[in-house]
Amino acid sequence: MEYYSKEIGRLIGELSTLPGIGSKSAQRLAFHLLNLPKDEVNKLAETIVSARENVHYCKECFTLTDQDICPICANPNRSKKTIMVVEDTRDLAAYEKTGKYEGVYHVLHGAISPMQGIGPGDIRLKELIQRLQKEDTEEVIIATNSSLEGETTAMYISKLLKPSGIRVSRIASGVPVGGDLENIDEVTLLRALEGRTDL
Ligand code: ZN
Repeated sequence: MEYYSKEIGRLIGELSTLPGIGSKSAQRLAFHLLNLPKDEVNKLAETIVSARENVHYCKECFTLTDQDICPICANPNRSKKTIMVVEDTRDLAAYEKTGKYEGVYHVLHGAISPMQGIGPGDIRLKELIQRLQKEDTEEVIIATNSSLEGETTAMYISKLLKPSGIRVSRIASGVPVGGDLENIDEVTLLRALEGRTDL
């Protein structure tokens, strides 16, 4: 990166650490930012800093929120008897977009992956168990991705919950294998939810 001055090189370097941003995209973004009016760049920078500062986990479901309890958990019309377990906040958003799910969620922030050294203790599983001990849950719907990691996590949770007597179900395989929930259309998601099977 010697053909760019130090400051430009540093900006490109930082941008290229972002997911999905290779060195070409990083250069394009860097020059876009350098050409923006200063106040627009300030606004962008402030938005990033403020979001990082104020966004944290919901105390109940562990989704990312800027409140103590997220709007879904705080909504009295949502049934706490059904908990849908998802890998991350984007998956939650995918199901929320369907507008048809009336229960609450539990966000794991990852999936079990022996290959990557991610064990049950590395995701928010303990918190799910604690929640189930406190609450009067009737069903846990496992909506982890249909990747190897997602399936491993689903099996693990189902075994863990078996003795509790709580109904444990898995969303149907309308979701393509290896598919990320966030990329799947709403109709397919609803079909997967409606066609869920007991584990
Ligand atoms: Zn919540």
